[in-house]
Amino acid sequence: MPRVVVDVEKCIGCGSCYSVCPQGVFVIRKGKSYAVHEERCVMCRACITHCPVDAISISVREKEYRISRLYEG
Ligand code: SF4
Ligand code: SF4
Repeated sequence: MPRVVVDVEKCIGCGSCYSVCPQGVFVIRKGKSYAVHEERCVMCRACITHCPVDAISISVREKEYRISRLYEG
């Protein structure tokens, strides 16, 4: 499962990630973005590309990554 992390210290609440994410991962609350539905992330990287302050990072949990690699074959 993807892990989507917003650095709240960097986030300026511009809403770009909320606007560009095709999966509705983010909500904006009180001027900050939160990845409340990170399980929906398809790792398209649109949010990372559009964030003006480089506040978003995305990773895959190591164990599940290994499992998916096995299936790739
Ligand atoms: S990588 Fe794509 S799907 Fe995942 S949170 Fe960012 S915009 Fe949404
Ligand atoms: S695009 Fe970046 S700065 Fe803008 S709301 Fe999202 S995380 Fe915050």
